[in-house]
Amino acid sequence: MNNNRLRIAIQKSGRLSKDCQDLLKQLGVKLNLREQRLIAHSTNMPIDVLRVRDDDIPGLVMDGVCDLGIVGENVLVEAQAERAGGTQNADVIKLSKLDFGYCRLALAWPQELGPQDKSWFEGKRIATTYPEILKQYLERENINASAVMLTGSVEVAPRAGLADAICDLVSTGATLEANGLMQGDTILESNACLIQNPNLNDSDKLALIDKLMPRLKGVRQAKESKYIMLHAPKNKLDEICELLPGTGQPTLLALAGSDEYVALHMVSTETLFWETMEELKALGANSILVMPIEKMME
Ligand code: ATP
Ligand code: MG
Repeated sequence: MNNNRLRIAIQKSGRLSKDCQDLLKQLGVKLNLREQRLIAHSTNMPIDVLRVRDDDIPGLVMDGVCDLGIVGENVLVEAQAERAGGTQNADVIKLSKLDFGYCRLALAWPQELGPQDKSWFEGKRIATTYPEILKQYLERENINASAVMLTGSVEVAPRAGLADAICDLVSTGATLEANGLMQGDTILESNACLIQNPNLNDSDKLALIDKLMPRLKGVRQAKESKYIMLHAPKNKLDEICELLPGTGQPTLLALAGSDEYVALHMVSTETLFWETMEELKALGANSILVMPIEKMME
C-alpha cells in the first residue's frame, strides 16, 4: 500500500456501503470499485478506500492504519468504551456527522409482558451487540442486570431462551414487531459520521482533508436547500418575500414584455410547502418552481 495516499475506511457491504460510495462520488472522488477488492484506488485523487466490516473501522482509524473512516456512532462509541482504560489509543477526531445511517439503540422485551418500567430489568439478562454501551446505561440508571453478548440475530434471543430482553438497533421498529418485542427506552441515537486519526500529521494528507471538508459541507447544504423561482407582481413583492423561507436576499430580474411582474429567484434553506405555494399564488405570484440543488459553495 502506498503511504502517501489518504486512506479512508468504509463498510464493504451493509447498510452504510451505498451511502458511503455515493458520498465519495459527490465529493468528486472517482473510484474503481470492483466487487471483491479490499482496496479501491481513486483514479483522480491520491486516495485509497479500504472496504471492511464496519466493526473494524474505529480501530483502523484509532491505530492510524487508516486516516479517515465512515462509521455509525453506535459502533464508534462501543469501540471507544471497549478501549477506555486500556493501553490502546481510543481517540478519534469526529470531523462531521453525516446525514445517513440513522438508527437508535433501544431496549425491548417480549410483547406479552406488556409495558414495563426500568425496575423490571433488575436481575435480567439482556442480549446485545453493544455490551459496553449497555453497561454504561445500566450503571447510569442504577440497574443491576447482565449483558449477554451476541453478534447477530439479537432479536430472537428472548424466544430462544438466551436472554430476557434485548438492546438492539432499531430504525422503523418493524423487526422488533415481527419478533413479538415491545420497544422501550432509547439508549443511544446514532448517525453515520466521518472520523479522523488524531495523530495524522502528513501535511499533504491534511491539505487534502481541508479540500474535501468544504465540499462535504457543500453537499450537505445543497441537500437541504432548494432553488426557488417565481413570477411576482411588483406591488406585492414585500408580502411575497415575507412568505419565502430562509433569510437570503432574493434576486429580482425584469420579465420581458411585462411592467407589472418581475422574476424572483432565491436559494432557500428549506423546501416550500404546498400551503406556502398556495398563499403565494393567492398574492398573484405564478410560475412557481422549487428545484433541487446539486452542489453549493459559499
Ligand atoms: P458488517 O458486516 O460490516 O459488520 P453489520 O451487519 O454489522 O455489517 P449493518 O447491518 O450493515 O452492519 O449496519 C451498519 C450500520 O448501519 C449500523 O452499525 C448502524 O450504524 C446503521 N444502521 C442504520 N439503520 C440500522 C438498522 N435498522 N439496523 C441496524 N443498523 C442500522
Ligand atoms: Mg458489523
